[in-house]
Amino acid sequence: MSLPRKEVDKKLSSLRESAGREEGGQPLGEKVVKKVLIVGAGFMGAGIAQVSAQAEYQVHLMDIQTAITDGAIKEIRWSLEKLAAKGLLKEPWEKVLVRILPEKDLSSASEVDWIIEAATEAEELKRSLFRELDQISRPDTPLATNTSSIPITRLAQNTLRPERVLGLHFFGPVPLMGLVEVVKGEKTSAIVFERGVAFVQSLGKTPVRVERDIPGFVMNRIFSAALREAVDLVDQGIATAEDVDVGMRLGYGWNAGPFEIADNAGLDTCARVGQTLKALGAGHLAPSSNLIERMVSEGRLGRKAGKGFYRYSSEGKRVPWEEKENR
Ligand code: NAD
Repeated sequence: MSLPRKEVDKKLSSLRESAGREEGGQPLGEKVVKKVLIVGAGFMGAGIAQVSAQAEYQVHLMDIQTAITDGAIKEIRWSLEKLAAKGLLKEPWEKVLVRILPEKDLSSASEVDWIIEAATEAEELKRSLFRELDQISRPDTPLATNTSSIPITRLAQNTLRPERVLGLHFFGPVPLMGLVEVVKGEKTSAIVFERGVAFVQSLGKTPVRVERDIPGFVMNRIFSAALREAVDLVDQGIATAEDVDVGMRLGYGWNAGPFEIADNAGLDTCARVGQTLKALGAGHLAPSSNLIERMVSEGRLGRKAGKGFYRYSSEGKRVPWEEKENR
């Protein structure tokens, strides 16, 4: 039975007020959270580490190879220097960078207050990470995932604390994008959900509350529907990727077209999201054509690989295709 609208509003507003308090009456204003572990130092993990350090958290950034965390720290330094040059940092970039500690394994999970998993979009991998993180971390530490498409509820099932598992779905590039979806799994407690909202706000980002764990959450469902149509039209030769992007920018006021967004996100990640949506019964949101899969098999993974729908220089700048190149 559903509650009358007035009752729902009252309940929600009292929950939001209590979001400032932990179960034991401890304030939750996320500055009590001092240490954060980010698992996965790729495109998203590095960005989440950077904005967390900018918000004065002590950050542990873990990946499977030192070369990857080293590369991430280099990228973060480059990004911080650029922000500093534009006067967008409130302190010297060096002070922000030293808050990020590279890690080779998950052992720091035992000493942090928040954990955000941002590893490769593969369900088995994430399930095993959640099992391990559940064992190592303190029982009261929230475990968040940045997954684009894997149900939060399925990841939570691998832990003994499903009420403390939630989705924090950042958008990339994280330092530039203001939005984070906060996603409730079937068992996520109201207080942990509100803590997620408070954490996102403490990073200077705007949370969008997703009250139910549905395939693709909210934003990826809407974007995937647009990308599906765009990919199918391009694969049928009806329009070029460039023209679709120009059209969406000029005609609909998007800041970037669907193919520009897909190249930035990584076409391997887009392909995985499409496969997961199909497996979860939301195949109507995935392209009918296998254009993205074909591009991935040719190594055209998007900006990070130097080519995808567009071609990029080694500094990541968009450059024209060379004539002899097979686009
Ligand atoms: P990425 O490929 O750039 O990075 C993934 C990283 O995870 C890699 O560095 C990899 O080495 C690491 N990794 C793999 N196994 C690991 C393990 N066992 N322990 C620790 N690290 C491990 O991918 P990404 O684009 O950063 O995506 C990461 C997550 O964020 C995915 O779940 C993705 O769906 C999600 N996401 C991506 C975007 C986007 O725009 N790319 C946006 C929102 C959410």
